[in-house]
Amino acid sequence: MHNLTNTMTMFNNWEIFKGKIGVNQPLIISGPCSAESEEQLMNTVEPLMATGKVHAIRAGIWKPRTRPDSFEGIGAPALSWLRRAGEAYQVPVMTEVANALHVEQALNAGVNMLWIGARTTVNPFFVQEIAEALRGADVPVFVKNPIHPELGLWLGAIERLERVGIRQIAAIHRGFYAHNINPFRNDPKWEMSIEFRSERPDIPIICDPSHISGKRAYIAEVSQTALDLQLNGLMIESHFRPEKALSDAEQQLLPEDVAALLDSLILRKEDCADEQTNQTLENLRVLIDDIDRQMVEILSRRKDIVEKIGELKRDKGITILQFPRWFEILRDRTQQGKDLGIDARFVHEVFQLIHKFSIDVQQHTMAKLPEKF
Ligand code: PEP
Ligand code: MN
Repeated sequence: MHNLTNTMTMFNNWEIFKGKIGVNQPLIISGPCSAESEEQLMNTVEPLMATGKVHAIRAGIWKPRTRPDSFEGIGAPALSWLRRAGEAYQVPVMTEVANALHVEQALNAGVNMLWIGARTTVNPFFVQEIAEALRGADVPVFVKNPIHPELGLWLGAIERLERVGIRQIAAIHRGFYAHNINPFRNDPKWEMSIEFRSERPDIPIICDPSHISGKRAYIAEVSQTALDLQLNGLMIESHFRPEKALSDAEQQLLPEDVAALLDSLILRKEDCADEQTNQTLENLRVLIDDIDRQMVEILSRRKDIVEKIGELKRDKGITILQFPRWFEILRDRTQQGKDLGIDARFVHEVFQLIHKFSIDVQQHTMAKLPEKF
């Protein structure tokens, strides 16, 4: 398995951050969702930099908004504000690009780093256009995950950048659109960042807890989870007057709250030097391995029974799904979970998955011997 112990230092290999990030410290990017005015940008960047904890400044200039009547960013005039903010506080600045013109204007204006947004990563035409515009440029590029959880698009966008010679590339995990989810704005689907890491252990990956959370209240817990999963940094939206922000007002933090949040985060170690702890951990893992194997075996026994049920239903001409029976199973198992102190939503989801598989198995059984009908 890939050894993640020193991944936190990956950004220190980038020219722009050399010697700027402490050993095993995450990269911290902050700044407003959108650049709204030079005053707003300066008033946000000044206290952010005063914290001494922020390594780069973000600000959206061209904003991909879901609905057309929303604030769509200032556009090119904001580029000089961003550059001046970077110069004034000696900090790299970055913005989102979604087409070749954005790339050209941002690079001409001296923007230090770029990111590709979630609504752009989904479209290989746009990513390719951006990549072509970047050919020959030596600028760090961050790639947000696509809106829906398709690893291939995320990896593909990175490969397109690599093919035009971009050497400094990082991924941003910003969560995935899901219908009616709670309590977050985007479903974190943490397994996606783990899969990303196993495919590309050489590419650093940071988390954008602001777009996952959608609300200030959840940013700390999402950031902590990201660090516990050994992501290499955080991009946190901030604004000197969040409630007045023209976009994403509910998720932007005051610069001083960014500092407090960063202070509250715990950086856990992957390994422990202490033998006793390692031994205890090892023993607990043996127990987990044993339970997991038992679970797979039980699932296999359940599948055998499901097949028998499928055969019976087929022979007697009964439909696969009986709704009252299914609702009763869900109710009963969720209640059992609750009684045992397991999160009801978790048990519910596990049984939905098990049930989906049972239906597949029964469909297969039904299809096997259609001549019996
Ligand atoms: C943003 O970072 O402001 C943004 C638009 O993010 P995303 O592409 O993740 O929606
Ligand atoms: Mn935003």
